Amino acid sequence: MKGPTVKQAIAALCAQCGICCDGTLFKDVQLRESDDPERLEALGLPVVRPRVRVGSVKGTQGGGQSPAKFPQPCAALAGCKCRIYRERPAHCREFECGLLLACVAGRVTVPKAQEIIGRTLGKADAVRGLLEQLGNVEGRGGLGHRFRRVCRRLERDGASGRDGARFGRLTRGMHALNLMLGDYFYPGYRYD
Ligand code: SF4
Ligand code: SF4
Repeated sequence: MKGPTVKQAIAALCAQCGICCDGTLFKDVQLRESDDPERLEALGLPVVRPRVRVGSVKGTQGGGQSPAKFPQPCAALAGCKCRIYRERPAHCREFECGLLLACVAGRVTVPKAQEIIGRTLGKADAVRGLLEQLGNVEGRGGLGHRFRRVCRRLERDGASGRDGARFGRLTRGMHALNLMLGDYFYPGYRYD
């Protein structure tokens, strides 16, 4: 089966997805040497820099330090679109999820890929709703990160009957979401 071009696949899939930018797939995006942190900050990305040591360059990478990064959900995401698309960082330019690649390779049809995206978005929304019901309302950080914060708090403080039931649903929802992300979206997925 012949697949669409990368451009066609991005138009058909990414335009209704955005899970590599909204905190579902990643908790942050690391900058590369080729990125300009000051420019990205001016474009509205809240770049978090490592502590500057002697020898580091522009706050991106220095000897053994972690690189500068910005958190997800991305501040540049508007609906499913990147509002700084032409100036997006290197990692964003290079990233193509497993589902997109499988679609381009003709291993999964566009309608099937859209159906997978719809199901994954539904699972992610359910997880977000349960996180909020359990008091994680600020929406910052990746979903996995937020889930672990809720786990730690409930382990420390305990959960009432209603919160206990919600936490059960959240745990099952997170597990189902992670299975879908692992099956279809993380790089390496090859719909064989
Ligand atoms: S996760 Fe894949 S399909 Fe979704 S927006 Fe990112 S690259 Fe596109
Ligand atoms: S800069 Fe654009 S492509 Fe990169 S994470 Fe943010 S919204 Fe997505």
